[in-house]
Amino acid sequence: MAELNKEPVGNIIDIKHVSKWFGDKQVLDDVNLSVKKGEFVTILGPSGCGKTTLLRILAGFDTATEGEILIAGEDITQTPPHKRPMNTVFQRYALFPHLNVYDNVAFGLKLKKLKEEEIEKKVHRALKMVGMTDYEHRDVNSLSGGQQQRVAIARAIVNQPQVLLLDEPLAALDLKMRKDMQMELKEMHKTLGITFIYVTHDQEEALTLSDTIVVMSEGIIQQIGSPTDIYNEPENCFVADFIGESNILNGTMLKDKLVNFAGNEFECVDEGFGEQMPVDVVVRPEDIYIMPQTENAMLDGKVTSCIFKGVHYEMTVVTQGGYELMVQDYHAFEPDQEVSLIIKPSDIHVMKKERTCNTFDGKVIDDTHIEMLGETFECLPHDFARDTEVTVEVDFDKIDLTDDKEDGKLEGSVQLILYKGNIYHLTIVTDEHDHLYVDTNDVWDDGDMVGINISPEDLRITKK
Ligand code: ATP
Repeated sequence: MAELNKEPVGNIIDIKHVSKWFGDKQVLDDVNLSVKKGEFVTILGPSGCGKTTLLRILAGFDTATEGEILIAGEDITQTPPHKRPMNTVFQRYALFPHLNVYDNVAFGLKLKKLKEEEIEKKVHRALKMVGMTDYEHRDVNSLSGGQQQRVAIARAIVNQPQVLLLDEPLAALDLKMRKDMQMELKEMHKTLGITFIYVTHDQEEALTLSDTIVVMSEGIIQQIGSPTDIYNEPENCFVADFIGESNILNGTMLKDKLVNFAGNEFECVDEGFGEQMPVDVVVRPEDIYIMPQTENAMLDGKVTSCIFKGVHYEMTVVTQGGYELMVQDYHAFEPDQEVSLIIKPSDIHVMKKERTCNTFDGKVIDDTHIEMLGETFECLPHDFARDTEVTVEVDFDKIDLTDDKEDGKLEGSVQLILYKGNIYHLTIVTDEHDHLYVDTNDVWDDGDMVGINISPEDLRITKK
């Protein structure tokens, strides 16, 4: 092994610049991740974001189009799955139905032709670890889902792998069993002392189990951090929206420690954004104080809904400026009640905006047409010569969406909806995998197919 590939001691896994394409579809985009020995790392993201693909590449069931995977500093990018010091537990338990519990766990060891007494010792130890000692001779079909998954875990750890990969292992269990198994998995991780890489789309599961959470969306790592970091300091709107409940609003950083949002100025603790800078503001619903209307409150509004959530009440308040905020409190304020809201500076989380408008690459066709997003668009007359490479900007609220996709210049599907208190911010992905960002008051659903139109006067064209 080349000395260059040696990583600092402590990292059991290094994923370096891994990208994956299936045909012309990019599923992973320059993924970089280091995992420490013994860490419990969860890869969290919505369906289709590439979590399973990343896990399969780690396990060796799939190969990366680009990039490399190192285990304890050794490049294993080309190593076949059975030679990697890791084992996988899948969502479906994949047990052999014709074998009993003992034989299921012993299966791999028998293939390796280990001595019978050694197999027995290892199987007993693994079954003890998952609390299934008394079930050795049971037919696996007679076990509950949770018990079957324990056997699957025993089978995966019987060879004492350095890394256990778990792909939504609890997804097929009912809620109560899932909660119990979460606690058991956490215990197992502690006792075994090996590295766990866990894939889930369930944010609560990720927050409960992990030392480190890796939040993914559309093949890109959005944030890596501890559960508290991810919850309290989301780096962008996607993370804030995906983890826990959030109010996400457009804002303007007026100057250090002063931000405007929901039509008001608020003191905050953030600095260094500059002056008059557009920002995204996140306030967790539990951080908004609600009270009967008083004078000199930060925001006044009216309750429009109040739902009991078991411990707290979840209320929607529409402020006098027309912004909708979610508020959680132990006291109920009923619909139509006039209320005041207070938010402490330290509970206002300001984030740099990822973008303030759509930006596309384009090429001039003639003095009233340009080509972008694989189509020809009419624009206002300009002086650029034919074939000039241009940058085209379009404001979020200047993209029209139509119900009938045939009516659009382009077709796309709604992939992400972010409610910003008074407007929906949508991500639209076209058939060519281009992304458009749209602000609208119309209500769309995730996955809706839409037609996309842009008026000539809304294209801002500059030379590259
Ligand atoms: P889920 O939780 O639904 O399993 P995920 O985040 O694990 O989602 P992946 O299974 O990694 O996502 O899939 C990411 C994208 O890659 C999806 O759009 C999927 O359709 C696509 N994909 C996965 N495997 C293949 C394949 N073998 N060929 C083509 N496309 C694939």
